[in-house]
Amino acid sequence: MPSATPTNRPSPNGASPRRQRTIARAVACEGTGLHTGATVRVRIKPGPPGTGVVFVRTDLPGAPRIEASVANRIAQPRRTAIACGDAEVHTVEHLLSAAHGLGVDNLEVELDAFEAPGLDGSAIRYVELLGEAGLVEQDAPRREIVLRETITVEGRNGATLTASPNESGLRVSYSLDYPVKSLGKQTVSLDVTSERYAAEVAPARTFCLKAEADLLRMLGLGLGATFQNTLVFDEDGVIENTLRFPDEAARHKLLDLVGDLALLGASVRANVVAVKSGHDLNLELVRKILAAPPE
Ligand SMILES: [Zn+2]
Repeated sequence: MPSATPTNRPSPNGASPRRQRTIARAVACEGTGLHTGATVRVRIKPGPPGTGVVFVRTDLPGAPRIEASVANRIAQPRRTAIACGDAEVHTVEHLLSAAHGLGVDNLEVELDAFEAPGLDGSAIRYVELLGEAGLVEQDAPRREIVLRETITVEGRNGATLTASPNESGLRVSYSLDYPVKSLGKQTVSLDVTSERYAAEVAPARTFCLKAEADLLRMLGLGLGATFQNTLVFDEDGVIENTLRFPDEAARHKLLDLVGDLALLGASVRANVVAVKSGHDLNLELVRKILAAPPE
């Protein structure tokens, strides 16, 4: 496994590096897993400096801990899942996206079931919860990866992801292209700041095509999904729901990408351009960034 090479480089304008952040107090919510349909209670607590985001399965003997790291990733369809031994947590990408998007480094997340709640299908509730908890700086510089070379990964059906150096911070762009009239081609790009993430990315809900929804049900997935927490597109538009953004689907894919980048265990200064990528390719990029030679 390649070792991470986060550095604590001063920012380009010579200012001292940003300090790590956690939350001021614990917050909680309850919901239903999108895939399992199981009720789950989540308690998000402050985490000590240098620990990253750690999930704790409070329903299992010994309350095992699972670090949000790409090394702990396990392959699961249509979600990001991590495990340590027999203890697993699934569908963690929306919570991780909220933390990464808001620049929160350290959290302890207690779950009493194996799938994080789907809530409204977006990351906005997690953003609100972290906001209610209050963000606090910690006495440690933020772990940061400064990309020195362009890294590209390619998947099936024309999916690509390219990360290139970008001194000013994290910039992400996502393009999708579906052969369904109501989705079609969409591209969304932004510099990831807490404010822009919260306003332009976090509210975007997960989605699928009508044909996929039928298939997922047949496979026993999507048991907690409804037309309210999952945008289901047919040729004419979204079924029994109203879009929050005309390009909500691309924004949600960008939300997932930011969540998967959280598995770097550090912030990254890079311009990440994604075309039709999903969790597998996102995590391949994460591995390649971590394997890149240190500066
Ligand atoms: Zn998602």
